[in-house]
Amino acid sequence: MFERKELEVLEKFNSEGNFVVSLFLNVSPQERKRSGYLSKFKNLIKTLPEDKISSVREDIEKIEKFLQSERESFKKFIILYSCSKKGLWQRYDLNIKLNDEIIIDKTPYTSPLFDILDNYQKYGVLLVDKRTARVFLVFLGDIEEYGMVHHDHVPGKHKKGGWFALAEKRYERHTEHHVKMHLKDVIDKFGDFLRDREIRRLIVAGPDEAIYELMKMLPESIKQKIVGRALIEKYASAEEVLDKVMPIINEYEQMKESETLSELITRARKNDNAILGIDDVMKYLRDRRVMKLIVPKDYKIEGKVCSSCGFATQQNIDCCIECGGGFIQSANLIEQATEMALQNGALIEVVKDEKEKSLLIINGGIGAFLRF
Ligand SMILES: [Zn+2]
Repeated sequence: MFERKELEVLEKFNSEGNFVVSLFLNVSPQERKRSGYLSKFKNLIKTLPEDKISSVREDIEKIEKFLQSERESFKKFIILYSCSKKGLWQRYDLNIKLNDEIIIDKTPYTSPLFDILDNYQKYGVLLVDKRTARVFLVFLGDIEEYGMVHHDHVPGKHKKGGWFALAEKRYERHTEHHVKMHLKDVIDKFGDFLRDREIRRLIVAGPDEAIYELMKMLPESIKQKIVGRALIEKYASAEEVLDKVMPIINEYEQMKESETLSELITRARKNDNAILGIDDVMKYLRDRRVMKLIVPKDYKIEGKVCSSCGFATQQNIDCCIECGGGFIQSANLIEQATEMALQNGALIEVVKDEKEKSLLIINGGIGAFLRF
């Protein structure tokens, strides 16, 4: 898992003129079988000019050794930054796939990671009861525990009878007071956590009474972030927490997906800064007017791209209507559109749900919200 602040530091890394190797490599279990990922790495190296390779030989050797010896610890995708001359070695493990690439430059190549932060949502999980609170962050199918609050001074259940029975009422008030103090502290700390980590979605968990008290005390700004409640054991492991919250996250994202899609279709029909269909999408991408691209997962649109101006179309025409240039056949214009969107700094939303996917496909197969 990585944070924007961390990436900003990496982005500003001063190599003092030395080259930095940035490696993006698929290391999924399939790739690790018969060491396919290692051959891919070697092939990536071969695409580089000889003088660049020799300037980072030390880094390449270090990376190769690392790829061989650490394979058991890999997730689906690995990103490595290495500049041995200046002591830089940074590793990120992801549970999603990006493009395989190697870049050798004077600065670390960080934009794909910034894109991930912009395009994927983080979820905070708050597991609370009368004395304790645990906080988790879920991002890209991974979970990390970030802290535990424990307030021991909350009075426990006392024996019945004795002097205490007489003071039952006072005791209850006393307990209530401590629970409130505990929750107030939790809320303060949690609010800071949400801000620091740019978390906009939240799942709460805990026994009814604690949740009831929590909801009474939570500021509106945090309440609005709640997307669901999970049933989680107080001492559950991080993996168990992940298992419980993933169905809630998936359901929520599917609902958001469907909302986004109907907004896209409605607005496109009204010509309200939204468009549908590959021809229009490519046109507005070239004009750099696309704010967010909406594409169906694993779907292809065949078509033609002008070799001189980049005009693209699904229409059956012989030469470019913009510049008269010749066409190149493209097996997937969606890939082209996605690349252009990334270059333009536009957001990309991938529609995964089958029902929503077919809705998008019958409405042009691709769409976009425009900046203006
Ligand atoms: Zn053209």
